[in-house]
Amino acid sequence: METSGQQFIAGKRRSGTSGERYEVTNPATGEVLATDTLAGPEDVDEAVAAARAVFAEWSRTTPAERSEAMLRWADQLEARAEEFARAESRIGGKPIRLASGFDIPGSIDNVRFFAGAARHLEGRASAEYSGEHTSTIRREPIGVIGSIAPWNYPLQMAAWKVLPAVAAGNTVVLKPSELTPLTSVMFAEAAQEAGIPDGVVNIVTGSGPVAGQALVTHPDIAMVSFTGSTAVGRQVAAQAAGLAKRVHLELGGKAPFVVFDDADLEATARGAVAGALINAGQDCTAATRAYVQRPVYEAFVARVAELMDGVRLGPVDDPATDMGSLISLRQRDKVAAMVENAREAGATIVRGGRIPDGPLGRGAYYEPTLITDAAQDSAIVQQEIFGPVLVCLPFDSDDDALRLANDTPYGLAASAWTSNVFRAGRASREIQAGCVWINDHIPIISEMPHGGYKASGFGKDMSVYSFDEYTNVKHVMSENTGVPHKSWHDTVFTSR
Ligand code: NDP
Repeated sequence: METSGQQFIAGKRRSGTSGERYEVTNPATGEVLATDTLAGPEDVDEAVAAARAVFAEWSRTTPAERSEAMLRWADQLEARAEEFARAESRIGGKPIRLASGFDIPGSIDNVRFFAGAARHLEGRASAEYSGEHTSTIRREPIGVIGSIAPWNYPLQMAAWKVLPAVAAGNTVVLKPSELTPLTSVMFAEAAQEAGIPDGVVNIVTGSGPVAGQALVTHPDIAMVSFTGSTAVGRQVAAQAAGLAKRVHLELGGKAPFVVFDDADLEATARGAVAGALINAGQDCTAATRAYVQRPVYEAFVARVAELMDGVRLGPVDDPATDMGSLISLRQRDKVAAMVENAREAGATIVRGGRIPDGPLGRGAYYEPTLITDAAQDSAIVQQEIFGPVLVCLPFDSDDDALRLANDTPYGLAASAWTSNVFRAGRASREIQAGCVWINDHIPIISEMPHGGYKASGFGKDMSVYSFDEYTNVKHVMSENTGVPHKSWHDTVFTSR
């Protein structure tokens, strides 16, 4: 793993020029993994210029050429999968089992999916709608895309941002979180090794307020694709609106997990623990609010508590570790403060709610936490926590369950658990979210879109739907008669 030079601009790895030094650390241990200088506006300018310079060449490659290059890219990643998994685990404080079983294979699959999808870019019309003209639809790349990504799944977020854009013939400048740049730079290097021209994928590692802002407001950035918190997403959208710039927003979530009384209790409890604790809860689709029908409520809470007791916190490179640390001490303290506030407001902390004792307590670890007796309008139920915390609340009727599920500003993902096909159908229709799982929670696949409703943003990542974000639709209308005086000219003049 190369640890210095966290900019990748025009095919070269180097340090930033802002003069501001920073460290990338393993949040589980505090170990410093890389020390470097952040990107400033000049680095962003250089990266945008590199992406702009190669746009004409890349956008004119055939779909087959882009596809072949991307398949080689996937092979490069696969050949280095272990190295990627180790790096991803260390920068994110995530268990090696998660990195090597989910993050890395998921990202490789994404590359292969978009290598195939590049060959299926298509418009929907080719016909004579006016009788005298043939209309066709062209889908064209937009230009240089400015992408901004969060820290929770660094490689997957880089993949989700870069791949549909590049497959469609755009070029990209990606700003990863300054906490987790290493695997994004390795990802761009692998593209170069696969023969993708320099400048197609550039990485600028800088802070949001400096490099992020420079990217959003840059006149040569044709579109901003942002994944992160709703608060920052709103700022980015406001700025993009002022510049009449296209924007794609993947924002926060607060996923409900609705358990009807006819659900398989064991499957549901296991789904809740895995869905709430994956990546230490730092997942925008994590199960955060379990609404459980009253007859099965107590049994559900008891079984979830029991399963949480078996979740092993430990060093991230130990294959036996189930849950790693949060991304930073700051994030851990934010989660701890939210749980403390909930306790003071009258909620019951059934499990966890603590920073672990001993050596783990020196890293950013927080215990798996189960909370009951919280009010629906309290912060712990309404706001995104981004930590290993599940709140359970009872409900009586199906109407109540669906009303409560929809009662937050967010709408990214949700699940409903039932053996009744009609309840499942109603929940999938009425829950306002970009994804509703039935009898599961979390799985994602490259072929299907990911994106939010409401304050969770708009636009889609993954799947061919993402091409709607990263292409312009052009209508080409060709006159077919060849006559000098067209029938519509009569509306202006009639002399023949
Ligand atoms: P932030 O919104 O804090 O940051 C996201 C990115 O935006 C980072 O790269 C950050 O840079 C950058 N940024 C910060 N301020 C600005 C600014 N003023 N202008 C431009 N860029 C800026 O989110 P987090 O990194 O804390 O990530 C967690 C959030 O991401 C959660 O809300 C989560 O739900 C959401 N998320 C959503 C997903 C989805 O698909 N809907 C997927 C994954 C996460 P830096 O931090 O380096 O300063």
